[in-house]
Amino acid sequence: MKKHNFYAGPSILPEITKEKTAEAAMNFAGTGLSVMEVSHRSKEFVAVMDEAQALVKELLKVPEGYSVLFLQGGASTQFLMAPYNLMDKKAAYLNTGAWSKKAIQEAKFFGEVDVVASSADANFNFIPKGYKVPADASYFHITTNNTIYGTQLHAEPEVDIPLIGDMSSDIFSRPVDVAKYDVIYAGAQKNLGPSGATLIIVKDEALGKIERQIPTILNYKTHIDKDSMFNTPATLPVFACLQTLRWLKENGGVEAMEKTNIEKAGILYGEIDRNKLFKSTVANAEDRSLMNICFVMTDEYKELEKEFLDFATSKGMVGIKGHRSVGGFRASVYNAMPISSVNALVEAMQEFEKTK
Ligand SMILES: *Cc1c(COP(=O)(O)O)cnc(C)c1O
Repeated sequence: MKKHNFYAGPSILPEITKEKTAEAAMNFAGTGLSVMEVSHRSKEFVAVMDEAQALVKELLKVPEGYSVLFLQGGASTQFLMAPYNLMDKKAAYLNTGAWSKKAIQEAKFFGEVDVVASSADANFNFIPKGYKVPADASYFHITTNNTIYGTQLHAEPEVDIPLIGDMSSDIFSRPVDVAKYDVIYAGAQKNLGPSGATLIIVKDEALGKIERQIPTILNYKTHIDKDSMFNTPATLPVFACLQTLRWLKENGGVEAMEKTNIEKAGILYGEIDRNKLFKSTVANAEDRSLMNICFVMTDEYKELEKEFLDFATSKGMVGIKGHRSVGGFRASVYNAMPISSVNALVEAMQEFEKTK
């Protein structure tokens, strides 16, 4: 039976990414060796890193003066690396979920953290608006898509200080105005590649402004100077990321992705709103995520949750169980998710409704 992969992360990848990576696992770039067993300083692997960085710049229209890095440690390491490098005495944060909270917790090691707004009291079911961001903060940190709660910032907040964006679960899903950011970071395993690589886009000019001593490996400058080769990069994951980046380019780039993502999310939210058994967990429709679509059973049918999960599983749906802090269901519909899989889930929801 066809499996429809709705996992939140690690998650679905384009078929071509898996095929090319499987090939390179045996014979990389005609070397007769696996991509796992060649030096990261070989000309073949350096070409992979160079092309991956160049494609990130091309796809996101990254302006001059920014560096693209592929490091390790996940987005979670960026929670501390960003403030280590960029926070002078104070930074502002928007608390929109579990990942924001973790970023805030790490930032507190480096200075005063001003949490300008939070939706914690409502279990993060909306994106706060109408807050004030202090002008003397070094930056304003946002989580652009809240993977667990299914909310998303559909536009950058209007602020006078630079932004730092955790884009782990919506990078490459839409165009981004990179110029507004000092740092953008994303663990690869949601929308780009396997776990093990972390993408970072950093504004060169934003660095070197603070007095704090920074350990070598946690200093962005170290990695910029060595072109992401200060220490051994995650070679196989970076190779896989490159395959996805090529796929993105061949399929119309982030503009085309956004169009399809709006269509996919529209189909699924449409069914959630229509079907008497289900309802969205997000309070305001304008905050709904195009990547992670969270829904629960309406109060009247609450006890059918397990039954629907089993039914959907029997129809080939994988990974739709909601995060334990929200419950219900979560369908992650990243770039690589075809419309046909979204339609299959919708059909399962409709079929199940008919039996009730
Ligand atoms: C998954 C996720 C993280 C954590 O990423 P790791 O690479 O596991 O550290 C951070 N932020 C967001 C928004 C995520 O979705």
